Amino acid sequence: MTPRLRFAHLPTPVEPMPRLAKALGLSHLYVKRDDLTGLAFGGNKTRKLEFLLAEAQAQGADTLITAGAVQSNHCRQTAAAAAKFGFDCLLVLTGEPPDRPSANLLLDELLGARIVWAGGRENRERVLTETFEQAKAEGKRPYLIPYGGSSPTGALSYVFAMGELIRQKPFDGELPDWIVFASSSGGTQAGLTLGAHIFGYRGCLLGISVDEPSEVLQERIAALATETSLKLEKRIEFSPFNIWVNDDYCKAGYGVLTEAEREAILLFARLEGLLLDPVYTGRAAAGLIDLVRKGFLDPDERILFWHTGGQPALFAEAYRL
Ligand SMILES: *Cc1c(COP(=O)(O)O)cnc(C)c1O
Repeated sequence: MTPRLRFAHLPTPVEPMPRLAKALGLSHLYVKRDDLTGLAFGGNKTRKLEFLLAEAQAQGADTLITAGAVQSNHCRQTAAAAAKFGFDCLLVLTGEPPDRPSANLLLDELLGARIVWAGGRENRERVLTETFEQAKAEGKRPYLIPYGGSSPTGALSYVFAMGELIRQKPFDGELPDWIVFASSSGGTQAGLTLGAHIFGYRGCLLGISVDEPSEVLQERIAALATETSLKLEKRIEFSPFNIWVNDDYCKAGYGVLTEAEREAILLFARLEGLLLDPVYTGRAAAGLIDLVRKGFLDPDERILFWHTGGQPALFAEAYRL
């Protein structure tokens, strides 16, 4: 049994979105609220961190090291989990320090993380390795968490999340035909994919890519789901061809807010009082809306949008709506 700490607020609620469904011409639309996992504004990384921190503790680590974008939700939740369980936290962020930290970066500092600036994206792997080696040289016992917490240990959390959703049977006792969500480092989709296999979920898991071509993400997710299955002591082989990823909505680039995200954010906000984030869930919701309008998603099917969090980025200077 893989060790796990318990600090996420689970199960997260599943809520109907009747006004939004009506506006889009859908019969059944629900949202799984993983923005409400509870740790320092929550999000999907909190589930992963329950397993990652348990592993770090088991290994006798005293320092967590991870990396991400300036407005990384993963880094913010890692900083919070580190504070809660008494680890030091080092965050390797891409870019240069801004004059005034805002949103997630402000929270990273508030939570006591130390920031290491990597400069350009091409440096980040090297700086991450250097930071890890330097921590060891200083006598620390660092535990390295990959981008987005997407190791098999982190992804395992979404196997359990799938089980959680299935127990909730949100659509009047039925399961969704489609589960749509933002996909980036792939741990969420890998875990859900393995969970679907294990629990016999027959609907479709559709990841909307936030920044990667479909082929890249499908390969990564299939490999990660296969690797994650080893944690459950039964190798299950996944093929990229059975992983559904749509990369039509990421062409503008990571974190670039286009009219499509803006419309999605405003629709969710003004019809349901539900806040999306500009980078991940805004993009995934924009994809969902477009796929409904195109008729790719059948209006009579049961559609679940899995909200993965990220709302602090709404307050970042760069994402003015
Ligand atoms: C990290 C993140 C995702 C993507 O999850 P992955 O497991 O990295 O694919 C989606 N939404 C939000 C808000 C995130 O922070």
